[in-house]
Amino acid sequence: MKQPMNVIALRASRAARAPFPISKRSRSFLKRFYADATVAQWSDWRWQSRQSIRTLAQVERLFALSDDERSAIERHRGALPLGITPYYASLMSATDPAEPLRRTHIPVNAEFTRLRGEADDPLAEDANTVAPGLVHRYPDRALFLVTKICATYCRYCMRSRMVGPGGEYTFSSAQWELALAYLEQHAEIRDVLLSGGDPLTIADEKLDWLLARLRRIKHIEFIRIGTKIPMVLPMRVTRDLVRVLKRHRPWLSLHVTHPAEMTTETAAALERLADAGLPLGSQTVLMAGINDDVEVMKKLMHELLVRRVKPYYLFQCDPIKGSGHFRTPVDKGLEIIRGLRGHTTGYAVPQFALDAPGGGGKITLVPDYVLGRDGDDLIVRNYEGDIYRYPDPGGTLAAGTTAPES
Ligand SMILES: *Cc1c(COP(=O)(O)O)cnc(C)c1O
Repeated sequence: MKQPMNVIALRASRAARAPFPISKRSRSFLKRFYADATVAQWSDWRWQSRQSIRTLAQVERLFALSDDERSAIERHRGALPLGITPYYASLMSATDPAEPLRRTHIPVNAEFTRLRGEADDPLAEDANTVAPGLVHRYPDRALFLVTKICATYCRYCMRSRMVGPGGEYTFSSAQWELALAYLEQHAEIRDVLLSGGDPLTIADEKLDWLLARLRRIKHIEFIRIGTKIPMVLPMRVTRDLVRVLKRHRPWLSLHVTHPAEMTTETAAALERLADAGLPLGSQTVLMAGINDDVEVMKKLMHELLVRRVKPYYLFQCDPIKGSGHFRTPVDKGLEIIRGLRGHTTGYAVPQFALDAPGGGGKITLVPDYVLGRDGDDLIVRNYEGDIYRYPDPGGTLAAGTTAPES
């Protein structure tokens, strides 16, 4: 007698063969702007990369540009080129230059204005570079920039000086070897953060080789990869890529910007990564008029949580040259954290951090809930603004302050 088919195994094998999902939005965008292409091509990351929108003519085919956008595109030279995957372009408004995702990727002339305090390399990463692409700022961990290529180029990029084909660095296996030699010689480094550029733009075999090479260095116990791929080119998260990642067990730090990125496709990419057991964290750059709003940020954090991504950092936008139109006062980040903490799931609250100019590293800021001290009582405020006395005999926190009336 034949064994009954194992239903769960059958479902699993079907899922393993299923094509990458495509949303209704993508489908209609594909039909409208890439009438000759198939769904299979759209869902192939190589096709998306080849079709990347890089020229004024290509942008104008998809977007009604403002004069400011058009002249900025014409004016742009060098690093941080224009580059948007058709998939990511499909999430942007074709008509509204103020739409958040469009603002993050289509240049405007403000990009060419250097304001006070802005620099090409405000974090002094170049000064902390100990081998090609290797930034060693904290004693126990190192930042390894492994490529200058991204799937798309964010206009607020903290490494605008170096990314893209016109970027100032060149990366090669010989240079990787120099960085790897440094890592091998420095046993105090237990944590390596791969970034760039976007490490997941690297071909599977090369990435496999690099991760295996890092895993062979015994003192490196923690490896993470910073990437925006699941948001801008989710179809790159192929089963083969997931197999490579699963083999080497890195954590992933996902660069996310706005709830509009949370599509069917992104959900599928994140599900593959989470199902492979890869711990997922997020990092978000706070930007004026894009995501500097408690409700927008709360929605984004909720969308991440349900997709098994732990919000990790909310970053103050670095004072990179030409970033004035993106930057908010530091207050804004604290206002957002105040609007999240206590008002929603604790897991949904990222740490708000700024990167100190000159290579001081990340400094986290938290809203102050301590109002003062009254003898043995600490006077604290909760998320709703109510004031409490907390018995704290012998404590010195807020000593010498006068507690407000409570
Ligand atoms: C952000 C960063 C790290 C990692 O910092 P964590 O707080 O551990 O996430 C390491 N090195 C450099 C140079 C960095 O900028």
